[in-house]
Amino acid sequence: MDDQTKARLSLRTLAAQALGMHDPVTKGIVQPIHMSATYLRDSDNGYRAGYVYGHTDNVSVQQAEHLIAALEGADEALLFGSGMAAATTVLLALEKPTHIIASQVMYWGFRSWLREIGRYGHTVTFVETSDLDAVRAAVRPGETGLFWIETPSNPLWTITDIAAICDIAHAADALVCVDSTVATPIFTRPLALGADIVMHSATKYLNGHSDVIAGALAVASDGPLWRRIAKMRGQLGGALNPFDAWLLMRGMRTLDVRVRAQAKSAASLVERLVGHPAVSTVLYPGLATHPGHAVAMRQMTGGFGGMFSLRIGKGEKAAIAVAACVELWKRATSLGGVESLIEHRASIEGEGSPCPGDLLRFSVGLEDADELYFDLTRALSVAL
Ligand SMILES: *Cc1c(COP(=O)(O)O)cnc(C)c1O
Repeated sequence: MDDQTKARLSLRTLAAQALGMHDPVTKGIVQPIHMSATYLRDSDNGYRAGYVYGHTDNVSVQQAEHLIAALEGADEALLFGSGMAAATTVLLALEKPTHIIASQVMYWGFRSWLREIGRYGHTVTFVETSDLDAVRAAVRPGETGLFWIETPSNPLWTITDIAAICDIAHAADALVCVDSTVATPIFTRPLALGADIVMHSATKYLNGHSDVIAGALAVASDGPLWRRIAKMRGQLGGALNPFDAWLLMRGMRTLDVRVRAQAKSAASLVERLVGHPAVSTVLYPGLATHPGHAVAMRQMTGGFGGMFSLRIGKGEKAAIAVAACVELWKRATSLGGVESLIEHRASIEGEGSPCPGDLLRFSVGLEDADELYFDLTRALSVAL
């Protein structure tokens, strides 16, 4: 598919047809999985096909990367063995010791790694990035080189204004990387809002079936940092394997319909849970009462995602008891799959977490929303 066609078609069509790729040998409408770890050298010692070794050269991985790049409106995308591998590679590829501004509320695993980033010569300031004045105050001219923001952010679903952050960052000559795992390209396209790099834990919505661990980076335009990231992925051996890339491609074909249905169910559940006597706060950017709602209305198109959290009025023990009583919702970490998950986040996040003890996180799957509602309200009755 050429660039003009890609620009004309909806993300739904691009994903459903996997950019119209097919197998050139058999004309199969689904591509084979390319498993070869190494490639034949030509007799004149060259590699005319352009494929040398599996660390970096794999057609199945590249095909999934092309689709992600199209979905994000990116110049290029790279797949990694996990979201963490993708995220950490950005930092490891920074040219020199850098001051990093990062969202206070974000995926706990990456935050805990960032807390120890001093080992690599960098410094980090965690800021409530939904507060633009706080962000401006945190900038150190000449030192701040990277902004790392997550929106909506785990597990409070705070909203950071991507375009406003990009203005602040670019005025300071810094780059902006957005963890857009929760929003997906269907609801937010960070690169179009000015971000330099967008990151996904493809383990979540992009794959959507809880059977692949993968991570992706996509870049607005090629540059020195991106070249170092690409090189380092080979050096560290961090690329995704072809079988998982193929599964990811299969998952992404239904991304648009999945996330729209998940967001619709989440909105319907949230609407009915507001005012529930066991619940002190419902956290969802689609609610008019959510502090980030106005920015979310501007920045998110077509939906507010499939994630929400509840704070339980009676506190932490009651929250854990609610999670123990659901039958349909599955008690498990992760998010974005077709099955709905419930999790008491404070139990997993540990030290330094801004997550309140009374909070339960919900990842809405593709089950019937009424059945999810009845299961949850039955469980909530233990916290009245
Ligand atoms: C899960 C997750 C990650 C980490 O991704 P893995 O694929 O589990 O390594 C990063 N950011 C967010 C928002 C996530 O939900």
